[in-house]
Parts: sequence; C-alpha cells; structure tokens
Amino acid sequence: MSATPDIALDGQRTHIVRPPVPWSLVPLSSECGRATSSLDSTMTLDEARVLREKLGQQRFALVICMTCATTAGRWPTFEEDPLQRLQRERNLWQEGGEQVRNELFALAELVNRHRAEYEGLVGEIGSVTRLKRPRGVPRVGHR
Ligand SMILES: [Zn+2]
Repeated sequence: MSATPDIALDGQRTHIVRPPVPWSLVPLSSECGRATSSLDSTMTLDEARVLREKLGQQRFALVICMTCATTAGRWPTFEEDPLQRLQRERNLWQEGGEQVRNELFALAELVNRHRAEYEGLVGEIGSVTRLKRPRGVPRVGHR
C-alpha cells in the first residue's frame, strides 16, 4: 500500500471545490454545482491535481467525482487566466446569480473610492508582468 492519499476507497467520491474569484462572497460550491456545505468530502483544485499525479488517472477516477474532474479541467483558475475565469462568473450570473453582479458593482465602487491606489497597483502589476515575460512572447495572449 502506498503512502498516498488519506482517501478511503469506499465508493464515496470526493468533490472538487470550485476555485472562487478572489473577491467572491458567493458560498463555495463544488465543480459539479453542489453546495460544499452539503457534501461529506471535498478537496481544493490544487489538492486534486496533486492527487491525480500521485494516483494516476485510473485510480484518481475511483475516488473523485468525475463531473467535478471534467468541469475543473475545462476552466482555468483566476490566477491562471482571469478573463476566462470571469467568463465562468458570467455563466453563474446567467443562472440567476445576482450576487455576482452585485460584487462587480461593489468592485467598481471600491475602485472609484480608491482611484489613486488602484492606478498605482495596476502600474506595479504591469511592471512585474513585463519583467516576468520572456523575450519574444507577445504582449497579448494570441495562440
Ligand atoms: Zn462533484
């Protein structure tokens, strides 16, 4: 027996928590759309990625909700691709998630109240990004 995960192979599948956008106040849900408060076993996306590496895909599929695994594989996290992640928030909004709209208006209001600090942060992030970008890589994400 390997020293890998603390997950029992008892038929109960673990769900993956949908990584929220950083400002979200929406209660956490699984990638398969269930409230995490109603689930017995959940793990973060990072934990799931580590577990898949350790177990391999076939054994991973025995312990993880495959709807969660499939859905998680389709969407980047906010840190990986903020624009695509916001597209996912848009989908939640269209499903009746008025909270998403309220949070975006609140973010805009925060920016208005702290405009100088916001502009400074955008400049800082832009300069760090320029330093990290390897030579020859286009500025915009063309594929
Ligand atoms: Zn699930």
